[in-house]
Amino acid sequence: MTRPFVFPGLTTRVVFGHGTLAQVPDEVARMGRGRALVLSTPQQADQAQALADQLGARAAGIFSDAAMHTPVDVTERAVAAFQGMAADCVVALGGGSTTGLGKAIATRTGADQLVVPTTYAGSEMTDILGETADGEKVTRRDLSIRPEVVVYDVDLTLGLPVGLTMTSALNAIAHAMEGLYAPDRNPVTEALSRDALTAFASALPVLRDTPRDPQARAQALYAAWGCSTALGYVQMALHHKLAHVLGGSFGLPHAETHAILLPHTTAYNEAAVADLLAPIRDAFGHASAGAGLWHFAHDIGAPLRLEELGLTESDLDRATEIAVKNPYANPREITRAGIRQLLQDAWEGREPA
Ligand code: NAD
Repeated sequence: MTRPFVFPGLTTRVVFGHGTLAQVPDEVARMGRGRALVLSTPQQADQAQALADQLGARAAGIFSDAAMHTPVDVTERAVAAFQGMAADCVVALGGGSTTGLGKAIATRTGADQLVVPTTYAGSEMTDILGETADGEKVTRRDLSIRPEVVVYDVDLTLGLPVGLTMTSALNAIAHAMEGLYAPDRNPVTEALSRDALTAFASALPVLRDTPRDPQARAQALYAAWGCSTALGYVQMALHHKLAHVLGGSFGLPHAETHAILLPHTTAYNEAAVADLLAPIRDAFGHASAGAGLWHFAHDIGAPLRLEELGLTESDLDRATEIAVKNPYANPREITRAGIRQLLQDAWEGREPA
C-alpha cells in the first residue's frame, strides 16, 4: 500500500542547462529586482565581476569575501555593503559557502536570492542556514531562507577540480541517502534521490578520467539538483549530525568530511533500514549500501580516512561525546559504542563491516 505522505510543494524556480549564466539578467528582472549584489569567495571574484559586468545597470556591486561556514562577522560586512549600495537582491555565484552568505543576507534584509551553484554541495534548494559565531556553528531552518531562483549552468562546473568534484558529489549523495529514510520523506524526494544516485554513479567515474566531459558534467549537476531538493524537503539524521560535529568542533573541511563519513553512516543505519537503502545498492551495484559507497569512493579517488584531514585518534572520544550528547531522530538507536566504532572505522578508512 502506498505510504501516506505530505508534500509541501516546490517553490524555487530552476533554470538548468549549458550557458544559462547568460539568462541571469533576465531572471533578476523576472524577480522584479533591479540592483543585485553579486556574491562570491575571493577565489571566484573574477567570475563575480564578470557577472556584474554582464548585469550592467542591474548590478549594485560585488562582495567577494564569502567564507566557509558563513561567519557572522563576514555577513555583517556584507549586509553593510548591501545596504550601502541600496541593493534589492543578491546573486550568489559559487559553492555552499557563497550560497550561505546569500541566505544570511536575505534573512536579515528580506532580499530575494538568485543562486548560481558551481559545486555539488547542494545548499541552493534548501531552507537551511548554518552560521558560525565565536567558534560555534548554529543551524536553523526557515522558509524565508530558501532561494527564489537557481540557475544551474553546466559550463561553470567544467573546471571544478577533480578532488572537489568527488568530495562535493559524495556530500550531495549524503543528502539523498538520509532522505531515503527520513520520516518526512515523500514520493517526490524519493524519486529525485533515486534518479540522482543513478546519475552520480555513472557520471563520476567518467569525470575521474575526463573531468571536462560535458555530458557527465550535466549528469552530475542534474544529480546535485536532485540531492539538494531532497535535502531541502526532509529531515536529516546521524550522517549530517556527525559531519556537523567534525566540522564545527574540530574544524574539518566540509566536503571531505561528508565524503569520508558517508559509507560508515550508511552502513550504521543500513543495519536498521536496509530495505529503504535499496536505491543505493541498486545504483552502486553492491550487496551492501555502505560497502558499495566505500568501494565507489575508493574507485573515484575520494579520501577515505579522517586521519588524512588531521583528526587525531584521541579526538575520537570527544567527537563521540558531542555526537551522542543531544538526542536526535535516527532510524537506528544512537549508542556511544556504536558511534565510537563508526568513527574509528572512518578514521582508519577501512571498509565498513
Ligand atoms: P565552498 O563553497 O566553500 O567552495 C570551496 C572552494 O571551491 C571555494 O574557494 C570556491 O570558491 C571554490 N569553487 C567553487 N566552485 C568552483 C569551481 N567550479 N571551480 C573552481 N573552484 C570552485 O564549498 P562547498 O563544498 O560548495 O560548500 C561548503 C559549505 O556549504 C559549508 O559551509 C556547508 O555547511 C554549506 N552547505 C550548506 C547546505 C545547506 O543546505 N545550508 C548544504 C550543503 C552545504
